[in-house]
Amino acid sequence: MPELPEVETTVKMLQTKVLNRTFVDIWTNSPPLIKKPQSFLDFKNQIKGHKVLKIERRGKNIIFSLSGNLAMLVHQKMTGHLLYGKWEEENGKWVSEIKGPLKSDSQNRFLHIVFFLDNGFQIALSDLRKFAKVELYSQEELNLASTLKNLGKDALKISLEEFTKKSKNQKGKIKQVLMEQSFIAGIGNIYADEILFRAKVNPQTPTNELKKNKIKAIHKAMQAILKMAIKEGGTSFSDFRNPDGEKGNFGNFTKVYRKTGQDCPRCKTKMKRIKIGGRSTHFCPKCQKL
Ligand SMILES: [Zn+2]
Repeated sequence: MPELPEVETTVKMLQTKVLNRTFVDIWTNSPPLIKKPQSFLDFKNQIKGHKVLKIERRGKNIIFSLSGNLAMLVHQKMTGHLLYGKWEEENGKWVSEIKGPLKSDSQNRFLHIVFFLDNGFQIALSDLRKFAKVELYSQEELNLASTLKNLGKDALKISLEEFTKKSKNQKGKIKQVLMEQSFIAGIGNIYADEILFRAKVNPQTPTNELKKNKIKAIHKAMQAILKMAIKEGGTSFSDFRNPDGEKGNFGNFTKVYRKTGQDCPRCKTKMKRIKIGGRSTHFCPKCQKL
């Protein structure tokens, strides 16, 4: 799933391409991806003619603020990603006119929603598994969206004091707590593993039992890892592509994620994989002792 760095990458790139553009039409072959309003026709009628005034990230959500007091929320979920380019319809499918990764990379071919812009370009949602969601709100209603309602402070913005204070009330395992969007917004499986490895904290540690210096180490690692991942354009172990259809580069810098059985880069111990809350968790049993 795209996490904070991937969503940030998408937002930053879309800002350079889509700001002040107007939606002139929308196409879909999967109306259920549009959750609000439930009728695709209503969605289309409401969004047509509106200009993109602002694009921002909130946790893993992308928010397009539109003229007419509207806000469109896109959550890419498991395998979704927004692309920017030009496509044309060929036998009921949209095929990219543009060469390069947009055309050649199969991850960019699962187009289910296409937004047509007034400059002749399009934003397209490519989503293999079709779990993404698109919702349209008035600006006032936006905070009622299920993925925004209980959203915690952003992982890049939370202060050490606030992080420490919140951690004291959490009994859950630190790995799970880091991924809990109401605790802190933006982190998923890959970055949680990388952050805990860097901070030398065992992922199974009950959060409220973490010593002050460990909390500080996690907070510091979180900032460092997320910032570096943004700089590298995110991670593309599976489906993520940026709006140009290209992969992120941070996968070349990960230390533990999916490295089960390999030597720990710090102490050479074989790295382990366990399940926490149903999610694969990778760690070094020596550097990250419980
Ligand atoms: Zn180690």
